[in-house]
Amino acid sequence: MSKVLFIDFLPSLEEAVRPFLKDSGFHCLPSTSFPFVLNNECLYGLFGRRTGDLGAVDVALIHLKHQASIEETHSFLHRVREMNSTACVILLGDSIESEVLCEMLRNGVYDYLSLPLSFDKLKKTIAKGLETKVNADNMLCSMSLTKERLLEEKARLQIWNRDLSRIYQMTQTITSFLNPGMTVGAFSETIKQMIPYETLSLFLKGRGGMDQVWVFPQQKEGAERESAKGEGERLRAFFLQCHEKSEPKAASNGNEIIIPLIAASEKIGILRIEMGRNEGGGLLCINEYQTQILLMVSTALSLSLRNAQMYQEVKALAATDELTNVLNRRAFLNILGRELKRSHRLGTTLALFIIDLDHFKRVNDRYGHITGDAVLQEIALLIRQAIREIDVMARYGGEEFVVILPEVNSEEAEVTAERMRHIVASHIFRKEKEAIHLSVSIGVVIFPFSHATNPEDLFHLADVALYLAKKKGRNRVEMSLPDIENLAEALQSKEGVKESNGKTTG
Ligand code: GH3
Ligand code: MG
Ligand code: MG
Repeated sequence: MSKVLFIDFLPSLEEAVRPFLKDSGFHCLPSTSFPFVLNNECLYGLFGRRTGDLGAVDVALIHLKHQASIEETHSFLHRVREMNSTACVILLGDSIESEVLCEMLRNGVYDYLSLPLSFDKLKKTIAKGLETKVNADNMLCSMSLTKERLLEEKARLQIWNRDLSRIYQMTQTITSFLNPGMTVGAFSETIKQMIPYETLSLFLKGRGGMDQVWVFPQQKEGAERESAKGEGERLRAFFLQCHEKSEPKAASNGNEIIIPLIAASEKIGILRIEMGRNEGGGLLCINEYQTQILLMVSTALSLSLRNAQMYQEVKALAATDELTNVLNRRAFLNILGRELKRSHRLGTTLALFIIDLDHFKRVNDRYGHITGDAVLQEIALLIRQAIREIDVMARYGGEEFVVILPEVNSEEAEVTAERMRHIVASHIFRKEKEAIHLSVSIGVVIFPFSHATNPEDLFHLADVALYLAKKKGRNRVEMSLPDIENLAEALQSKEGVKESNGKTTG
C-alpha cells in the first residue's frame, strides 16, 4: 500500500483530502504542518535515517498557500533530493506564477494541481506519479547494482594491477639471476604474496648433471631440504609422465596444481603448488585467477631457469678439464686464492697437495697416448676417492694434479696423502689384458707456513716437497718442512756435483 504524506500549513484542505486518500486505498501518514516537517530530525523520522528507507514516503502532497510556503517547499525539495528519496512530490494550491512553477518542476516536483481540487485528477496524478516513482526506483536499484559491480571490478583491477607489478618486478629479478637456486627462491617469495600456498615445490631436470629439487613451505623462509627427497621422487614421476604439450594438471579436489615447465619446446621441470586449509579447516582450492597467474609466470620462470642452467653449464665448461672432468688450472687458482683468504680470515689451516705421476712418460711410450689418457682419467677418480667432498681437486696440467684440503692440520694432511699414494700404488690399471702398475709422488704444504702467504709461495713450497719426493725415490709423500728449501738446494747441488763428476769420469 503506497504511503502518502500530506503537508499543509493550515489544516484546511486536509479534512477533504485525507478521507479521499483513505478511500482510494492509500495509507495516510500522520499529517504534519510545514514548519515542523522542515526540521531535519522530523524528516529523518519520516523518511528514515538511511537513504534506503526514504521510500517510506511514496507521495508527498504539499498544500502551497503563500510566498513563505514556496520558499519552504524549495528547501524541502532540496533536502529530499539530498536524501536520494524518489518520493513523488505533488503540489496543490491556488494558481501561481509560471516562473515559480517552472522552478518547482526543476527542483523535482512531479505535478501541480490547482484548487479547487478535482479528486479524479488527484487520483490520476498520484497513480502516474507512483508509476514514475517505481520506474525511478528500479533505475536507482539497477544503478546501485551496477555501482556495486563496478566497485567489485575496481577492487579486482586494483589487485590485478598490484599483482601485475609484482610479476613484472619478479620477472626483472629472475631473468637477471644466473643461478637456478636464486631464481626459484625469488619466484617462491613473489608467489607467496599472491597465492597462500601450503607448499611450493619445483623439480628441475639437470642437463647432464644432477636433477634439482626445491621445496618451499609457506610458513618458513627458504627451502626445506629434508622434505625435498620424497617430493623430488613424486615430481620426477610427474616429469616423466608429461610431455612438451602437457597442460597444467589440477588435482580433483582442486587444492593442488602441477604445471610443466617448458622452455623452447623442451620440458625442463615441474612446478607444483599445494594449497593449505582455511581457518575452519576446509581445504583451500586454487581459483581461476591464481591459475592464470601461475600459467603466466611459469613461462618466465622456465626461460629464466633454462638461462641460468645454460650459464652454469658454460661456466662449468670453462672451468673443467676436458679429459678428466675435474677443475682446470685456472678455476683451481681462483679457488685457492679465495680459500687462502678465508683461512687467513678465520685463522684456520689448509693443506695443498701437488700430485705427480711417477714415470708416466714410460706409460705413454709403452702403451700409447690413448692408454695414457685413460690412465689419467682413472687416476683422477682414484684421487677423488681419497679426499673429502669439501676438498677441491684439479688437473694442474699434464700428469699433475692438485688438491686443496680446507681445515686440516699437518698430521691429517699426511694421512690423507699417504692414503692417496697407497690407493694409486695398489691399483691395477689395464690395457686389455695387460696390468699396468703406477705410483704417484705427493708434495704437501700446510697453510699458514712460515712466510708463504700467497698461492705462488705455497705452490713453490709444495713443488719443492714434490721434488724431494721424486729425488728420494718416488712413490712417496713429502711434507714441506721449515728447512725444505735448504734441503732441496743441498740435494740439487749434490746432484750437480754427481752429474759433473759423471761427465768428467765418463
Ligand atoms: P717423473 O714425473 O716421475 O719424473 O716422470 P715422468 O715421466 O712422469 O715425467 P715427465 O715430466 O718427464 O713426463 C710427463 C709426461 O706426461 C710427458 C707426457 O708424455 C705425459 N703427459 C702429459 N700430459 C699428458 C696427456 O694429456 N696425456 C698423456 N697420455 N700423456 C701426457
Ligand atoms: Mg710432471
Ligand atoms: Mg711425472
